[in-house]
Amino acid sequence: MPNLVAHLIADVVLLAVIYRVKKPANFHWVAWQVFGSNILDIDHFLADPFYDPSRCSLVHPLHSWAVPIYVVFSFYGRFKYFFWAALLHVILDALDCLM
Ligand SMILES: [Zn+2]
Repeated sequence: MPNLVAHLIADVVLLAVIYRVKKPANFHWVAWQVFGSNILDIDHFLADPFYDPSRCSLVHPLHSWAVPIYVVFSFYGRFKYFFWAALLHVILDALDCLM
């Protein structure tokens, strides 16, 4: 659970930065994308056991091989903030692996 709290705090910080720098007119849409990026953890359903606190999340497909897709689509498109948040999510999970 502390990991979830860290993700939500990071999402709020990212939203604050986006609002401060970009001032998007459709901020609710941006917030949905940023908080929705936590759907990445759905790939835990592919693992057995579903949740293992000692396992590094970067072994899951949406946390590893999909990262280049996040990088490409973070530059353009209606969902770029989703991919920004997805990259932040993966970075946080990587930091969690180091600890
Ligand atoms: Zn994750």
